[in-house]
Formats: sequence, C-alpha cells, structure tokens
Amino acid sequence: MAVQRTLVLLKPDAVQRGLVGTILARFEQKGLKLVALKLRQIPASTFEKHYEPHKERPFFAGLVKYMSSSPVVALCLEGVDAIEVVRGMMGATNSRKAAPGTIRGDLGMSFSNNLVHGSDSAESATRELAIFFGDKSELCEWSPVTTPWVYNVAEELS
Ligand code: UDP
Ligand code: MG
Repeated sequence: MAVQRTLVLLKPDAVQRGLVGTILARFEQKGLKLVALKLRQIPASTFEKHYEPHKERPFFAGLVKYMSSSPVVALCLEGVDAIEVVRGMMGATNSRKAAPGTIRGDLGMSFSNNLVHGSDSAESATRELAIFFGDKSELCEWSPVTTPWVYNVAEELS
C-alpha cells in the first residue's frame, strides 16, 4: 500500500460527448483526491512524447491525431494504490469488451475512442505527470477533510 499519483486524461471523445462531469464524478465519488485539473487543446508533439512507448505500433499516428484533434481534460489523481485503482475503473482498452461497471464498459463502444487514459505503472505515472504537469505550481497540495473517512488512517495511511 502506497499513496500514489497518477495521470488521467479525459480524451477528446469524452469532452465532445459531454461526459467530463460523469467521468470526473466517478473518480471523486471513489475517494480519489484531485491534485490538478485542466482543459487544454494539446499539440500532437506532446502526445508523440506521451505515447512514445507505442511509437512502433500501427495505431500510433492515428492515436496522436485523435488525441490532438480536440481538447482533453488532464487530471492528477492521488490515493492509496491510485494507479491500479484508476486502471480498474477504466476497464479494458477495447470498450466493447470492457466490463460493465467500468468507465469504458458503461460509456463507450470503441477500441480507439475509449474515453480515458490512466498511467499503467509508477514509472509511467512519473514520466507522464512530468509531461502534462511539469509546472509543479499546477499541483495543489491540500488535505481533503474527507480523508479520515475515506481511509482508516492508522491502518492505511501511516
Ligand atoms: N489503441 C488503438 N488501437 C489499438 C490499441 C490501442 O487505437 O489496437 C489506442 C487506444 O486509444 C488506447 C491507446 O491507444 O487507449 C493506448 O493503448 P494502450 O495499449 O496503452 O491502452 P490503455 O492503456 O489506454 O488501455
Ligand atoms: Mg496504456
């Protein structure tokens, strides 16, 4: 158990389809702490960096084009095991196969336009947060009053 930060992107289809509030509400209601949030039109060059591990894959060019075609919402979320928790909430990459109850499983029908990105490891989270939130002043250091009710502090946070 460790407190982690993870990068989440609400992809262009989530913004265009008016699902920002719905998806954000799921993360808030889960108990994840919002550390940063911004709506931005982001250039292709940034997504080339972000998706660099996929650069040899056949879908890379299309993916970069889709991600930079319209604004995205970038979030930094924090919580105990936040990386795995967020990945579980997202569901499988192919929205048609993603389990009901997950974001992709409940809200999407596409493999490529799958609504949400979440870092897949601690190393990815560090790398991706540096790309989207390199300016540390955008990260809010605050203590939600709900924390002692979301967690058993003695068992899970000390
Ligand atoms: N993607 C795609 N076709 C594929 C695999 C992936 O269009 O065959 C897109 C999809 O938007 C996915 C992103 O590329 O979310 C990154 O792929 P990854 O395997 O990292 O999936 P994720 O971690 O987002 O579930
Ligand atoms: Mg991935």
